[in-house]
This record gives sequence, C-alpha cells and structure tokens, in this order.
Amino acid sequence: MKVGRYRVDIFSDGIFRLDGGMMFGVVPKALWERSKPADERNRVAMDMSCLLIRDGDGHVVVVETGAGGKLSEKQRGIFGIDEPPALLDELARRGVRPDEVTLVINTHLHFDHSGGNTRREGDRLVATFPRASYVFQRLEWQDALAPNERTRASYFADDFLPLEAAGRLELVDDSVELLPGLRVDRVQSHTRGTQTVRVSADGETLFFSSDFMPDRHHLPLPWITAIDLFPLDTLEAKREILKRALTESWIVAFTHDAPRFGRLSEHEGRLRFDELG
Ligand SMILES: [Zn+2]
Repeated sequence: MKVGRYRVDIFSDGIFRLDGGMMFGVVPKALWERSKPADERNRVAMDMSCLLIRDGDGHVVVVETGAGGKLSEKQRGIFGIDEPPALLDELARRGVRPDEVTLVINTHLHFDHSGGNTRREGDRLVATFPRASYVFQRLEWQDALAPNERTRASYFADDFLPLEAAGRLELVDDSVELLPGLRVDRVQSHTRGTQTVRVSADGETLFFSSDFMPDRHHLPLPWITAIDLFPLDTLEAKREILKRALTESWIVAFTHDAPRFGRLSEHEGRLRFDELG
C-alpha cells in the first residue's frame, strides 16, 4: 500500500487465542460467536498484526512486534500460540534486516504487541532491533512498570524493561508527529497510554486501530472488550474516530484482524469493513 512517499505493509506475527467473553465485553456470547466461533476453552483465534512503514529515505518503522519468542511452553498453551513468531521472517521476506529498523512503535505494552521488542541472547535480553528507537506513550510505560492486580497478567517486563538499559526508549506524550505525516495519538481506552498510528500524505490517511477496536467485529459502538480499562472513553473515541474514518474515507487496519487494509462503508446504519484488493 502506498500512502504518499510511504510504503506500508501489513502482516501477522501469528495467531493467539483469548477468552471470547474477554474480547467482547457486554455483548452476549449468542451474538459474538456468530462472527467469532470459540474453541472448546471458549477462546477466539486472532492474528497479531504488525505494520512495516518505509519512506525510501532510510526510515524503516515497525508497528507492533507480536508475542515474541520468550514465552514459556505453559504460556504458549494458555494463549494458544502454536507457531514460532513470524515477525523477523516477514521482515526478511520484505528485505528488511533487524539492524535496518529505525523506529519501533508499540500501540501499548501488552505482551501480544511488544513481545518481539526483545530477544534472548545467551542469558541476556537484548533489543531485537538494535539501532531502533522504541516509541511508547509515557503513561503506558509508567503503568506497565507498576501494574495492578487487574492489569498484571498482560504485561511482561522482559518485553520492555531491557530497552531502557540499552538506551533505546523514546517516551512520548499524547499526540506526536514522529516523521512527516506519521503520527501517534494517545487514546485513553484499552489502557491509559494506548496510542493509534496514522500515516497521512497526498490526501490519503491510513489508520491503525490499537486494541480499543481490535478487529472488524468491534465496529459497532457497544462492542468493547471486557479488558478495556476505560470502556466509556473507548465508546466516545470510537464514536469520533469511526465518523472521521468513514467521512474522510481512511484506509483502516486492525491490530487483531486478518492482516488486511480496508475502508469503512455504512449500510442501514451499520458500519462494514471492505477489504482492499
Ligand atoms: Zn492485543
């Protein structure tokens, strides 16, 4: 996908599985399981989508790094991760070596978005992308370092703490333009420091959702995950962002849908995600 001078690719790091009730919040199972069938443990399968954004000028940006290769066998069983992480192979297929990546953006620091930030080298943890700056919201960093009883299960410090020691952190506040036309915007919703990613150029805007809208099934306003920490803020953010995405005909991609770009259309008051070819 070309957006002005940017070339944007989307691919999946792999499939993971989470409890369907957790993914759909107040929506009854009788409704959500029509679009997302659950397995025998009530889990739904989801991609962990990543973006690769290049400008041909030496900037190589990776958005999300999937679950990474550091999970234990027990954790992989819990989260239904059957395959090794695909991130580095997907980058290699597109001609990108880890040391060529200049910027890594995590929409937030949950393990399924930041797990590939670091890797084991012997008994050390090192940055997977040794020359990259890693960009997160300052509030997300603070909350990930001090999780509470409710948020603890989603954050693994090995995914982000070693980056501080390696001097690779770039903490940002609220809305920031990282490169011309490439911006992140904080949206208090799934977490306090969740951020979306937008690439805008030549009248076109590409929008990457983050987990307050993890896939196309979350387009209806009340379909909000049970793990969103600020569900009513999610509701208002969706109301505002989806209206803009529709009227300005944004290209949309989701964190946990099949790795596709699409645009939104409205049919009898309902939004639909139409994949681009
Ligand atoms: Zn996620």
